[in-house]
Amino acid sequence: MTDRIKKASRHTSQSEGLIFEKSAPGKRGIELPRLDVPAVDARQALSAAHVRETVNGFPEVSEIEVIRHFTRLSTWNYAIDLGMYPLGSCTMKYNPRVNEFVARLDGIATEHPFQPIQLSQGCLKIMQALQNCLLEITGMDAVTLEPSSGAQGELTGLLLIRAYLESQGNPRQKVLIPDSAHGTNPATAVIAGYQVENIRSDARGQIDVERLRQTITEDVAALMVTNPSTLGVFEQHIAEIAEILHANGSLLYMDGANMNALAGIARPGDFGVDVMHINLHKTFSTPHGGGGPGAGPVMVKKILEPFLPVPVLAGKSDGTLTLDFSRPKSVGRMRAFCGNFGVLVRALAYALAYGPGIRQATEDAVLNANYIRKHLEDVYELPYKSPSMHEVVFSDARQKKYGVNTIDIAKRLIDYGFHPYTTAFPLIVPGAMMIEPTESEPKEECDLFIDAMRAIAEEAATNPEVVKTAPHSTRVGRLDEVSAARKPILRWQPKASGEAAD
Ligand SMILES: *Cc1c(COP(=O)(O)O)cnc(C)c1O
Repeated sequence: MTDRIKKASRHTSQSEGLIFEKSAPGKRGIELPRLDVPAVDARQALSAAHVRETVNGFPEVSEIEVIRHFTRLSTWNYAIDLGMYPLGSCTMKYNPRVNEFVARLDGIATEHPFQPIQLSQGCLKIMQALQNCLLEITGMDAVTLEPSSGAQGELTGLLLIRAYLESQGNPRQKVLIPDSAHGTNPATAVIAGYQVENIRSDARGQIDVERLRQTITEDVAALMVTNPSTLGVFEQHIAEIAEILHANGSLLYMDGANMNALAGIARPGDFGVDVMHINLHKTFSTPHGGGGPGAGPVMVKKILEPFLPVPVLAGKSDGTLTLDFSRPKSVGRMRAFCGNFGVLVRALAYALAYGPGIRQATEDAVLNANYIRKHLEDVYELPYKSPSMHEVVFSDARQKKYGVNTIDIAKRLIDYGFHPYTTAFPLIVPGAMMIEPTESEPKEECDLFIDAMRAIAEEAATNPEVVKTAPHSTRVGRLDEVSAARKPILRWQPKASGEAAD
């Protein structure tokens, strides 16, 4: 009997070929109604060059086959709705459904970006309310919602710094970046036309203030600090660092993508930051990943306001709102379109739902990271002992002697039902294991994660092979990442006729 059972694998990971492989000639997903207008011959209506008679390899499948194909594929995904997603620095927290509800309301989801400004007043009010929330949370003076990602926010911020310094007579040459910064920071500085000077963290993972005081020079435009850093550590001397920079005529940029460790507790505007971005798709609970839309608003102090990108949201004398494009000192446009408006709506819904309670979210994020730290620090190496904020960074130093590294442990976590933590950085921690549970995890899920991590530490010592060859429970095992990077096959090609299918 058993050989009659074709589906041998578990339902949620059942085999699935490509949609092209399911094709059978003549199958259709839809039936069109009979034409009730005169037929037009496309070859006459368009130039013949634009008309294709056939598309080589076009999949011909029925409706149910399309539905099943994509539904099966969707079951291969890991998602925050399935369990903890402790991908450090990425803040993969739960996004309350009410945010989605609000973003889908008529009059929000159905607005057209080219609608006349008088008919877009509601949307502009949403943007204004969000701007006010962000200014209150960060303690800054002015804001732009234009940047579409954290990295684009960084670029906007550095272009603002450049424009401001240029208006003072000299844009300067260098941007200082601590080695605990996010990898996007040096890339941004280079794209903004600056030379990057790396500054080394001290043994506690902090900027060495005395060294900065001694080595800062006149050609330093700014210091770009990720705070809390990618070690999950708060820069304790940030106010002093700001003073040193300002005395030198330099500005302080803060990468605030980790604002979920500060919101409601500390305001960058109060500790000397001149310009910063935050990631609405992290701290403000918009779903992200897979390249979907994001938003990286930039908040500035007064001196940078004239340079903000256009358009700037402005009030008119009749009490209505408008988009102001006539700003002579502006750095210009950062993007052509406004496809991420829904992200702004979700962020506002999130901020208003919490209100001052956002402080509790921050405290819970820090508590969860420290709870995990406390329960794992006897089995995994903790290279920096400074207090953890919203994430904790271990290393694989103790597992290395069994030949097990951070990637192996991350892959083994998949077998235990968790998304891996971040393995690639911070660069100053070899074999980093960067864990960010976020505030949305209940204690029970944190405990399951701790159990899994402890079990893997035990396996590394007693049965390292099982860790080194993980994952064992997924549809495909470990991929050949080197070949995938060197010889990427990004597109399915139809076989030439007569050739056997693979
Ligand atoms: C995620 C992140 C960024 C980049 O944000 P994107 O939206 O992915 O461009 C920058 N800095 C830090 C600290 C981050 O965590």
